[in-house]
Amino acid sequence: MGTVIYGNELAQELKDGMKARVDELRRQGRRIPSLSVILAGENPASLSYVRGKQKACASVGIESSVIRLPADVSQEALEAEIIRLNEDPAVDGILVQLPLPAGLEESRAIGRIDPRKDVDGLHPLNVGRLYLGEEGFVPCTPRGCMELLKRMEAPLDGCRAVVVGRSHLVGSPVARLLQNANATVTICHSHTRNLREICRQADVLIVAIGQPHFIDHTYVKEGAYVIDVGISKAADGSLKGDVDFDDVLPVAKAITPVPKGVGPMTICMLLDNTLKAYEEREKHGL
Ligand code: NDP
Repeated sequence: MGTVIYGNELAQELKDGMKARVDELRRQGRRIPSLSVILAGENPASLSYVRGKQKACASVGIESSVIRLPADVSQEALEAEIIRLNEDPAVDGILVQLPLPAGLEESRAIGRIDPRKDVDGLHPLNVGRLYLGEEGFVPCTPRGCMELLKRMEAPLDGCRAVVVGRSHLVGSPVARLLQNANATVTICHSHTRNLREICRQADVLIVAIGQPHFIDHTYVKEGAYVIDVGISKAADGSLKGDVDFDDVLPVAKAITPVPKGVGPMTICMLLDNTLKAYEEREKHGL
């Protein structure tokens, strides 16, 4: 029977450490780290994610602000807002909540963010740094997956890792992080043939496809470390992962559940990236 690794528990431990760091800054009368989120439109899921991010910031003492823009905001006005935040010395982290309303170009907006404040790690410069194995901001969900693998004590060096899903947000960057950790990585997607056979070779299996309970025990090697990134809402309102947890638990060495798995770690890594941005900016007197 595998060990269940709860992301909410790990996130809480890490947040306790962050809170202690921010409390110490406050005690010393120093400037407090700050995150600004740009939210365009009224997408209910985005509104709820942004509220979650604000709550998480408050829980560790990081300051946060939300800039609300109408759904029909022009590309120019959106970018002007990003530039204003780039130039505001009190702002350490900038996040543009995705998806943007129709008509707005996400890549142009992300490209406007000062890479030193790009706490989502989506600016092309930070993407490039990740691929070159250089220091930079790494997207939050892939970072969360790596922290969970660390907690599982998964031996990554030389292991066979399979990532199902190749999005820019999750699959591709987590595959790169695994490769940077010396795993031998295969990336699978909707055109992959023999997906089951490939997954069955994985010592580490990361699934990020958004297909509820797609992966059952027939895809999983005995003793594999399994990270389930997927989140889908079922008809009854419950959240389902891409992995059939009950079916896979007996064969896995360790596995993350949904909910209480990768989700809380994603927000936790956003806070960590914001602290990192703050520390870098303070160090360089920015
Ligand atoms: P995308 O839709 O951008 O990408 C999905 C990927 O899965 C694509 O590469 C697609 O292949 C692949 N895929 C889809 N169906 C199959 C299939 N049947 N077999 C093999 N590959 C398949 O999604 P994201 O990467 O943004 O998110 C993936 C999941 O993770 C979603 O459920 C999302 O809600 C969740 N998520 C969770 C987060 C968290 O914090 N827990 C954060 C971000 C996402 P192709 O490229 O060929 O189309």
